[in-house]
Amino acid sequence: MYIVHVASECAPVAKVGGLADVIFGLSWEHAIRGHDVEIIVPKYDCMRYDHVWGMSVSHSDLWVPWFGGSINCTVWFGFVHGRKVFFIDPHSNDNFFNRRTFYGCHDDVMRYAFFCKAALEFMLKSGKRPDVIHCHDWQTGLLPVLLAEVYQHHGMGAQRVCYTVHNFKHQGIFGRDILDATGLGRHDYYFSPTQLRDDHNAAVLNCMKGGIVYSNFVTTVSPKHAWEARHTPQGHGLGGTLNAHQGKFGGILNGVDYNTWNPELDGFLPCRYGIETLDDKYHNKDALRDRFWLYKSDKPIISYVGRLDDQKGLDLICHAAHYALSKGAQFVLLGSPSNNVIYNQFAHLRNQLGQSVDCHIELGFNEELSHLIYSGSDMMIVPSVFEPCGLSQLIALRYGTVPIVRSVGGLADTVFDKDHAHADLSARNGFTFNDLNNQGLESAMNRAISLYYDYPGHFRILMANGMRSDYSWNHPGTHYMNIYDLIRHK
Ligand code: ADP
Repeated sequence: MYIVHVASECAPVAKVGGLADVIFGLSWEHAIRGHDVEIIVPKYDCMRYDHVWGMSVSHSDLWVPWFGGSINCTVWFGFVHGRKVFFIDPHSNDNFFNRRTFYGCHDDVMRYAFFCKAALEFMLKSGKRPDVIHCHDWQTGLLPVLLAEVYQHHGMGAQRVCYTVHNFKHQGIFGRDILDATGLGRHDYYFSPTQLRDDHNAAVLNCMKGGIVYSNFVTTVSPKHAWEARHTPQGHGLGGTLNAHQGKFGGILNGVDYNTWNPELDGFLPCRYGIETLDDKYHNKDALRDRFWLYKSDKPIISYVGRLDDQKGLDLICHAAHYALSKGAQFVLLGSPSNNVIYNQFAHLRNQLGQSVDCHIELGFNEELSHLIYSGSDMMIVPSVFEPCGLSQLIALRYGTVPIVRSVGGLADTVFDKDHAHADLSARNGFTFNDLNNQGLESAMNRAISLYYDYPGHFRILMANGMRSDYSWNHPGTHYMNIYDLIRHK
């Protein structure tokens, strides 16, 4: 099968969060099964070009219709660790992707509307006719709209779209100007409630709703979150639309790329280890302490790696730091704040705890360092308000780092409490809590720290259970292939 992913991120070249990992991992899973898989992303100036091999011009004179005129683009091609990736590089005063940042610009919706249009125009002009175009998140929600309303009439009538929502919180809200820019026009038609009109604000349109309405199949990234999105406020207002399209909507748990995230092969680790050589994990714990000047003692290290966004339970993360220290544990955080207010909140935490020999707060994005933290920690907290899937707990499991998570979304689908889970003893792999407050978090952290000190043998069993579980792309790869097959033959 011929599959093209169109997305705003791809690890490790353009990575903000889990979306990037999914593009990287899922595309490879299908490629090694013999499918023809390509990826289209914007050519950002802030990409990690050191991970692109053989960058060359693939299409030098692509004119993309835009408002009344058109914008000239170069399309580049390169391999990203074996994946075939095309990079869209527009030349205009808008400088859509030369902003020294991936997201957070005032015209983000315009930037990605252009990207959708350019990706389709590129496929059209270069004769690419994939069986399935797989779009991701609000940034590519307009692609299936443009395909159905415009491009199918130009010879792309056979292409099917699978649309995956990685996060319902960001939906891409826009107005008439984007309809004019993309050539969709017909304001009244798109402002219909069954089309793109936002379900809660009749004055605006919604990219993600467009993706849901127009795609042949829609997924989100865990079964539990598929349910939450339809039946709880976690759909962020799209529950009604999802219910209307429930026949083509489901949840597929994300996988983790086990070539990248594998403690036996991981080139970033000072000492590689596996389930049979678990003691070697503690060389990484030593290295992590060396890196951050932490005191060497028998204390466990509890860590957090991830974006710092309201979604992630910021107050609980701060509380976890204080609570860990008060309970005789060390605490390490690597986090990328999503805005200045959050940056200041964690800079304050760093000031409060930074002098402690048991704590380190690192603000920023650092892929290499994250590997050391996953491997060198004993436990990892993920106290999210909502979590569509969550990859950090899956990576932690793989590295024998026991997750302590709030039981929502994909976290509930993947972490089974040592004491309370319905799962088999051999499937229990961490600690969970339900209540979104300090007491909830403390109950789980307390049990984890106590087990570490009082029953180290039992703690090890938990580590091994996690390392043994299979959260590779193997199963999800098959689920997505079944969906592609289904929509192809419809
Ligand atoms: P989300 O998609 O909401 O950001 P996930 O848990 O699904 O959360 O995926 C996060 C991914 O991004 C993981 O691979 C995690 O290691 C990585 N990541 C997030 N923040 C950072 C950071 N500051 N430095 C390094 N890696 C990070």
